[in-house]
Amino acid sequence: MPTKTQESLTALATGNALRGEIQAAGLKVTTTRLAVLTALARNPHADADTIFRAVERHLPSTSVQAVYGVLGAFTEAGIIRRIEPAGSSALYERRIGDNHHHLICSNCRRVSDVDCVTGEAPCLTPSNQHGFSIQTAEVTFWGVCPQCQTTQCQKADQPSPH
Ligand SMILES: [Zn+2]
Ligand SMILES: [Zn+2]
Repeated sequence: MPTKTQESLTALATGNALRGEIQAAGLKVTTTRLAVLTALARNPHADADTIFRAVERHLPSTSVQAVYGVLGAFTEAGIIRRIEPAGSSALYERRIGDNHHHLICSNCRRVSDVDCVTGEAPCLTPSNQHGFSIQTAEVTFWGVCPQCQTTQCQKADQPSPH
């Protein structure tokens, strides 16, 4: 169990690392930007709403628009990655530049990272490249997560109410 001091030291170190990340991207460090990046560090694959609610807890004066603005600036600067699963709002994450893919539960929308399918980016070869030079591949594997499989099995086992 980490002590209170260790915890705050870790938080401080993380804060400094995130600050450095923002600066390295050529952006000015602001309280909102730092809060958004901290929220993303805690909630990978979060949507703007989730990030806003996490930021709002520490910065009650923040607005949804401000959070959207920061997410846009971070995505453009390349410090976060935006993924847009079909039928879901855009999700943001800090794991960038490794061309990893995602497993998404079609039931509860839980998202898991999957490393490259084979070797390095683009790690998949399309059957026809149409003359393109392919740089990345973005694959979404849809399925049912272990937790939902269990719940669904339990439901199936229950006798019908009629
Ligand atoms: Zn699920
Ligand atoms: Zn991811």
